[in-house]
Amino acid sequence: MIVKFDEIPEDGLALHLTETAWIPGEEISWQGPVDASIFLGKNGERILCEGSLRLTLLLDCDRCLEQFAAPLETEFKIDFELLPADLAQQDFASEHECSEAEMDVVYLEEPLIDIHATLAQQLYLAMPEKRLCGEECQGLCPVCGVNRNLEQCDCAKKSGLSPFGVLARLKH
Ligand SMILES: [Zn+2]
Ligand SMILES: [Zn+2]
Repeated sequence: MIVKFDEIPEDGLALHLTETAWIPGEEISWQGPVDASIFLGKNGERILCEGSLRLTLLLDCDRCLEQFAAPLETEFKIDFELLPADLAQQDFASEHECSEAEMDVVYLEEPLIDIHATLAQQLYLAMPEKRLCGEECQGLCPVCGVNRNLEQCDCAKKSGLSPFGVLARLKH
């Protein structure tokens, strides 16, 4: 889905997407409805993009490897600006030391905004780094590999090196 700069009216363009075609499906699993809103406003030569994204991700727990549902909600602001054609990208970058306000400026070679690519990028940025099905997740036993949230094994007792073993020795 491409929006051209000159397709954006003076009072802005609001988009609401419930389709899922923009989600990189090979890398990201999700369930249920997907809700994405984008508002494109004009500010001189700049296009100001404000958006929000809401969906439920299906992630694999870092500890027990089980899949779990993680609701994700994110908001973003991006300024799109056209890269001046007569300026080499490198010169341009060195002249424009990134100030705080310019942090989220995206320079485009053509006056086109790829809405799907923008949403996919924002989704990647919002993906949680730490993925736990719950803070209490016991993970897998490093010895026999059972999911310790579901099953108990004797490996900890047998090894004698575990906290359980130490505790047992202290008691006696
Ligand atoms: Zn887990
Ligand atoms: Zn075990």
